[in-house]
Amino acid sequence: MYQKTSDFSKWYIDTIQKADLMDYTPVRGCIAFKPDGYELWEHIQEEMDKRFKETGHRNAYFPMLIPESFFQKEKDHIEGFSPELPWVTEAAGEKLEERLALRPTSETMIGHLYSNWIKSYRDLPVLINQWANVFRWEKKTLPFIRTSEFLWQEGHTAHVDEEEARKETMQMLTIYKEVVEELLAIPVYDGQKTRSERFAGAVDTYSIEAMMQDGKAVQAGTSHYLGTKFAEAFDIKYLNKENKHTYVHTTSWGTSTRLIGSVIMVHGDEKGLVLPPKIAPTQVVLIPVGPWKKNPAIMEKLNEIFAALKAKGARVRLDDSDQSPGYKFNEWELKGVPVRIELGPRDLEKNHALMKARDEGEKISIPLESIIESIEKELETMHTRLFEKAKAFRTENSHTHIDSLKQLKQHLGESEQNETIPGWILAGWCGDNICEENVKEQTKFTTRNIPFNPPITKHTCIHCGKEAKHTVWFARAY
Ligand SMILES: [Zn+2]
Repeated sequence: MYQKTSDFSKWYIDTIQKADLMDYTPVRGCIAFKPDGYELWEHIQEEMDKRFKETGHRNAYFPMLIPESFFQKEKDHIEGFSPELPWVTEAAGEKLEERLALRPTSETMIGHLYSNWIKSYRDLPVLINQWANVFRWEKKTLPFIRTSEFLWQEGHTAHVDEEEARKETMQMLTIYKEVVEELLAIPVYDGQKTRSERFAGAVDTYSIEAMMQDGKAVQAGTSHYLGTKFAEAFDIKYLNKENKHTYVHTTSWGTSTRLIGSVIMVHGDEKGLVLPPKIAPTQVVLIPVGPWKKNPAIMEKLNEIFAALKAKGARVRLDDSDQSPGYKFNEWELKGVPVRIELGPRDLEKNHALMKARDEGEKISIPLESIIESIEKELETMHTRLFEKAKAFRTENSHTHIDSLKQLKQHLGESEQNETIPGWILAGWCGDNICEENVKEQTKFTTRNIPFNPPITKHTCIHCGKEAKHTVWFARAY
């Protein structure tokens, strides 16, 4: 695994450029997704969308421009988002009467509309998701992880009461955890955000958090219980069965293209990109080797394998370009392709081919008669291998023995000296904002979440030493 923190960001940028996933544009913080980068998002989308629909949600689309007055209606929401909003102030050469924000998220526009759409208990629940782009004018940007414009999905639901809305909030968090673990092979901790880290305008925010190979955390998805805050701000009421006007309880939940950045940072190695098989744009590449041009049987066999894999639904490429095999091996490795098959005249004579998994050091010989099964099996086992490797890495770099700020600083000093990553620490917290703030100021470690299932329970606050109310993951984060 790649562990040198000092040049991790350089490695990250090199990796995505060599893999041809994106390009920079003249607009600061706004990137172009190239086809191999965009296809990663499409596979994430497909899987998420399937699970959203299985749980009763439908997709809709809302405008990108939001009137300024909408933001004024929910005080916490405007405070949280106003510093990073880009504004449209004129159109067709004329100054607008009211300026319009490029949406950072759509609670306000959707709140406004839901107040018209929801009249009676019969209209509930409303279960809607939107696939869209959003804008947050970030000072420091990093492709896929933090950009001024990014792609995401945002779910917005309305319910008769708190119980149902909270159930929805948890259900969506569970779906996020499952997709990130089962599709992207990234292990995550699910838990609750502290007050200071929760979504602007939420009653409670829950997240899944993933550890990158430099030990930093990425918040990979969030789900919010919004209570009646947006319902009150936008007057979303329904007539209940007793014929009384009642505020709905709302939720929102989102995941974004930062998941792509997480995949790169969790699975990559010193050679570059390593893609989990389920989202790789190319899962298998077939490469003829040796004097294959003089031997038509090689391409015949490869074409046969190609067709058989295609028929099984695998995403396969046959590279018969005139580059040398060594050049091709390197190119496809940089693209993170999970499985490579090599076939030359001598292999064909022996009735076998060579198979190389992107994350394994050695090539293995596989019999041609069962090659399709071998490849399919390898794609499955590679997923498990990547997941287990990431999980072992996370365990190795999750520290549970640190109980005071002094110990944390000592730990940071040691990791700097030994050039190891500081990782995450599991510590107690009394619940006081000041303690959380102090830890952040002095170590840049922020609270990630209060895990639902902490490996152990902590009893004293890392900062003040008083009784801990919560056991919390602390880490530096993207
Ligand atoms: Zn404290």
